[in-house]
Amino acid sequence: MAVKRNALITGSTSGIGLGIARSLAALGHNIMLNGFADREEIEHLKADIATTYNVKVAYSNADVSKAEAIAGAIDQAKAELGDIDILVNNAGIQFVSPIEDFPIEKWNAIIAIDLAAAFHAIRLVLPGMKARGFGRIINVASAHALIASPFKSAYVSAKHGIAGLTKTVALEAAEHGVTVNAICPGYVLTPLVQKQIPDQAHARGISEEAVVRDVLLAAQPTKRFITVEEVAALAAFLADQQTASITGAIIPIDGGWTAH
Ligand code: NAD
Repeated sequence: MAVKRNALITGSTSGIGLGIARSLAALGHNIMLNGFADREEIEHLKADIATTYNVKVAYSNADVSKAEAIAGAIDQAKAELGDIDILVNNAGIQFVSPIEDFPIEKWNAIIAIDLAAAFHAIRLVLPGMKARGFGRIINVASAHALIASPFKSAYVSAKHGIAGLTKTVALEAAEHGVTVNAICPGYVLTPLVQKQIPDQAHARGISEEAVVRDVLLAAQPTKRFITVEEVAALAAFLADQQTASITGAIIPIDGGWTAH
């Protein structure tokens, strides 16, 4: 069994983040969940992960668009679990619109949550990781860190930005046992994607069925959605002690999309 470590996964009450939390808990790591959900659902998730995997599970309701809330989550994780060894910057939102109609507040929110939050979390946990000689930072980017699609100006900018952040911090941390990598999924059928289907239909003037067939899955040669479990398995692999030489990597898991 892997050494027991402490992991903070932002945006882990749903979708990919929750899948990563489960995959890390399955390796015996303690988990700090973060994200939004009602109190009952959070209590259920905490108890389920703790009993299924026999690990400690904490939860922070920090809104990662706020730097001070991220600092609070990290302090809380330290107090309830101990030092953070594995940081997964996963929280993210999406908004789809032609740029001329793109609401400024949506641009600001996407840059804050999908990009700046990772900067804040990394700058706060990296000193401790370096001092202890071990750390795993995993940024959940997107195929949109590598290529663009129309109507996603903020998201594509944030995700390209996180690829640059990943490479930069990987260089800064390389001699200290800390790896920094980005995972770039294609389409995974989570609430984030389910919500954009009607928005894409509106922006493109086509039906929702046509969005799934001709926009989302058309991009992926495998012609199927990536699963949460597949992304979670990649994160668990990158969190392992044995992957010490994989750093600064921008890793697609997109059914061949970016091979085009
Ligand atoms: P999701 O909507 O299922 O989950 C998003 C999570 O982030 C939730 O737990 C939510 O509560 C949390 N969150 C949102 N805003 C937050 C905030 N301000 N503070 C704290 N938590 C916040 O979405 P998902 O599809 O699982 O997306 C997770 C990540 O994966 C995102 O970064 C997304 O860009 C990326 N991604 C998703 C896909 C996909 O097809 N679903 C593809 C590529 C990349």
